[in-house]
Amino acid sequence: MGRRDHPTAEELYLSLREKGEEISLATVYRSLRSLAEEGRVATLPLSPADRFDPETHPHYHFHCLHCHRVFDLDLPYKPELDQTIEALGFSVHHHTLVFHGLCPACKKEV
Ligand SMILES: [Zn+2]
Ligand SMILES: [Zn+2]
Repeated sequence: MGRRDHPTAEELYLSLREKGEEISLATVYRSLRSLAEEGRVATLPLSPADRFDPETHPHYHFHCLHCHRVFDLDLPYKPELDQTIEALGFSVHHHTLVFHGLCPACKKEV
């Protein structure tokens, strides 16, 4: 729950194994699914694998296409976007926003 690096299920599995936990990948997936259903983790649908975020208050993300790190962005959340979409006849539960590109470290390298 303390991780702020938006790990995939597989990354979580590997770090739990490194810590000596006897856990299967299927169990990690199952636990993440139930934590997500309970609203205790947020799921970020990203290619090639979903990321998980213990920070469940709405916030925006940046996904680096080079190192594949996912950053929390210190941007104000815009609930008024929901109203804009509802005006088109949709019923909005929530929205997510992910920017894709190069992070500052990768931008320097390329
Ligand atoms: Zn990067
Ligand atoms: Zn986040």
